[in-house]
Parts: sequence; C-alpha cells; structure tokens
Amino acid sequence: MPEGDTVWNTARVLHRALAGTRLTGSDFRVPTLATTDLSGWTVRESASRGKHLLLRLTAPPQAAPTAAWTLHSHLRMDGVWRAYAPGERWTARPAHLIRVVLRSPEAVAVGYHLHELALLPTVDEERLLGHLGPDLLGTDWDPDEAVRRLAAAPEVTIGEALLDQRNLAGVGNLYKCELLFLRGLSPWTPVGAVPDLAGTVALAQRLLAANRGRWTQSTTGSLRRGQTSYVYGRRAQPCRRCGTAIGKEELGDRVTYWCPTCQPPPAPAPEAG
Ligand SMILES: [Zn+2]
Repeated sequence: MPEGDTVWNTARVLHRALAGTRLTGSDFRVPTLATTDLSGWTVRESASRGKHLLLRLTAPPQAAPTAAWTLHSHLRMDGVWRAYAPGERWTARPAHLIRVVLRSPEAVAVGYHLHELALLPTVDEERLLGHLGPDLLGTDWDPDEAVRRLAAAPEVTIGEALLDQRNLAGVGNLYKCELLFLRGLSPWTPVGAVPDLAGTVALAQRLLAANRGRWTQSTTGSLRRGQTSYVYGRRAQPCRRCGTAIGKEELGDRVTYWCPTCQPPPAPAPEAG
C-alpha cells in the first residue's frame, strides 16, 4: 500500500539511482508526454512530499526556456518505480503498465502504473502541491499546523480527516486504521470529540517514520508475515488485544478495519437546545 513511507523510500531509490547523472534517453508512454525527450537533461534530486514524487531535473540550455523542471508522479494504490542496472530485466510489473523509462549510463528507472505524470517548471510545484498539509516525513514537518488544520473541521470523522491530505500529508488507509486502533478511537469519532488530537498526530508521524528505509510496513514492531498489523487486512480475525472479530467497511477506495471493542463507537452528540 503506497503511503507516505513508501513514497519516501521510492524517492530515495530514485535519488540513489539517478541524482547527479545526465539522462541518455527517456520513453514516455502516456499521451500528454508522448513527444517529450529528456535526453541530455540532468537529474538534480528526487524528493517526496506526502504521497507525491518529485524528480527535479535541469534542462540543457537549448531544450527549454527555463532550466529547472520537475517530473511529478503519484503512486495512488498501485503505482511503482523501480531502478535497474543497464541490461537487467524489468520484472516488477507487466510491460503494458510501464508509463515512463528514464535511462542514464548507470541506471534505468522504470515507472509502472504511475498517476498524474506531468513535467512542470519547478517553480510551479507550489501551485500543484500548495494545498497539502504538513508532510509527516518532511524536514519541515509541523505537528502544530497539522493539529490546527484537523481541528478546523470538528464535525468531520477522524477516519476521513486523517486521509485528507490537506490536513496532513502521507497517511493512507493502512496507517489510518492502525493509528486509530492504537489510540482506541472509532474511525467515526468526530474530530472535535477526539480527546488528544496532538497525541494522535504525533503517533501518526512515529508510525510512518519507523518504516522509512524498509518496504515492509509494520505497526506492531514485528516484520513477520501476518504479524505486521493490528487491524488492517485482518477482517473477521481476532483482535490481538481482546479477541473480538475485526470489522471491515469499504467505501470506494477507502477501506476501514477496526476492532468494535477496543474502538467503541462515539457517544451520540448531545441534542441541540
Ligand atoms: Zn480489540
């Protein structure tokens, strides 16, 4: 499940493979960039912001009026970037899912099933991503601002609010479910009724940060298969704390797993008047 930590890890893989190198070729397999050729462009760095990937490039003087460009991509549920050695077989996904190939003398980066793939002047990053809340894994992570943004809509359920990247950037379904279990909060608790919002935000950051640098996402401390989560992906299995069957509810691409006992439903709001 690509969430903030996966995107952070992916940015690091791309940085190690391509930063400081001059591209020898590119192959875009999306209509909007079909004629784009990044041969001769230099990769400055690869970065992440929330769940967005930013590959920053310098165009050769004859190629573009501005020098600094960003290749933006988003993994959503199923996107993936892989770096290969030249000549190595590309095995991550079927070839028809390839959206872009970037070649340098030392590495080939292949992007599968990427979303929102776009090349834009780096100065326009803010226009594209300025709506995002504080990045949980950013060097400028600002927990107070995240709490402030969450608290601004007290009637929204905490389950929805955590997924809203305008509040804080990086949480997806997995961390949402695990975080709420660990805090003993029903996903349907209104934000205004969450007793310690700052504590919840702080734990979200720790959960994502703990999984930086590895691909296994664990919230339990165990990296053993089947042991990495408390509730996520465990429908009808016994809660690790109390034995109650874990519940699951799905709405579009939003899925919620929770323990009905450890995360009791919120008290009904008092009658107005
Ligand atoms: Zn339980």
